[in-house]
Amino acid sequence: MPSLKLENVAKHFGGLKAVDKVSMEVPPGEITGLIGPNGAGKSTVVNMISGVLALTEGDITVDGVSVATDRADIVARKGVARTFQNIRLLPEATVLDNVMIGFHRREEAGVLAQMLGLPAARRDTKRFEEKAWDLLRRFRMEDFAEYEAGNLAYGHQRRVEMMRAIAAEPDIVLLDEPVAGMNDVESDELATIFRELADSGMGLLLIEHNVGFVTRLCKKVYVLDSGRMIASGDPEAVVRDPQVVAAYIGT
Ligand code: ADP
Ligand code: MG
Repeated sequence: MPSLKLENVAKHFGGLKAVDKVSMEVPPGEITGLIGPNGAGKSTVVNMISGVLALTEGDITVDGVSVATDRADIVARKGVARTFQNIRLLPEATVLDNVMIGFHRREEAGVLAQMLGLPAARRDTKRFEEKAWDLLRRFRMEDFAEYEAGNLAYGHQRRVEMMRAIAAEPDIVLLDEPVAGMNDVESDELATIFRELADSGMGLLLIEHNVGFVTRLCKKVYVLDSGRMIASGDPEAVVRDPQVVAAYIGT
């Protein structure tokens, strides 16, 4: 299973160094944390990895191969999936259909065949449907399969977004504040799912504002502040680091 690596990655918006020479690694089979106060540059990191934003400097590799200049759809096809800080679902489509869209990210030919109504496409649809139901069960969402996604409670919409992101069985998944706005029960349920995904070999990058949640789940944590990596390592040690404490008190 491949590892995702960032080497001296920077993003400047005019004079603002939103991300300044950041290096980090998201290994397979682990949950890696990325924390930091609002405006630290966390979402910008995800946007660069996923091909939404171009890098100003540095390199990003998956399994040793650079993806730094790849478009978002290419990055997705190379096995890196993401969720967005602001949920992006098709609100009028069902939960099941929203999950099904996720399969198509990695299988362009399959989508074309489906549009043309080829027999192979019907087999694909059947196979995708079975996989979608597996996901719905794993996320305890099978009772909501036929609901319109836009009518769901916020926590459930977040789950749909996550199922869609992991439908194509990515090697790496980037989760931008996945438990924001959830209560403790909901975030504990998601924590269990994240562990299961990591145990299955997936590499997770968990971006969070909530330090406690990350500390409990992650093997390694990176801390960004004003675009700079101010600490990294064992979560328990990192949260006691005076620079990290200062960064959080400063907000
Ligand atoms: P975080 O996700 O850690 O809260 P962001 O990555 O969203 O932080 O933002 C980091 C900094 O970059 C902020 O100062 C933000 O205002 C700025 N920023 C983010 N995206 C853009 C953009 N597209 N254009 C200009 N500035 C941006
Ligand atoms: Mg953000």
